Amino acid sequence: MKRLTIEQLLGVNKFVVDDEQAHIKVNKEICSRCQPKPCTFACPASLFSIKDEELSFDCAGCLECGTCRVVCPNAGIAIEWQYPRGGFGVHYRYG
Ligand code: SF4
Repeated sequence: MKRLTIEQLLGVNKFVVDDEQAHIKVNKEICSRCQPKPCTFACPASLFSIKDEELSFDCAGCLECGTCRVVCPNAGIAIEWQYPRGGFGVHYRYG
């Protein structure tokens, strides 16, 4: 059986983005004061990054694993997290 890379496995997932109601909201003001920014290296889908010295986040491609909520030192304040509404979010198509 051929082993797939993480990128190949993520590539077969389907994401239905909810443009009206993002299931994760990030408070950039609080995040700007966070020095470790663990979300930038803990998210398995690499959805958090630093651009122009500011935290950048896009929930399209989210795997709904909850890792960002768990590793955030300001959990519950900096990251508003909920599952997507019905019909939206990730659809796993492999494994
Ligand atoms: Fe990334 Fe998981 Fe948070 Fe989605 S829930 S943004 S995949 S860490």
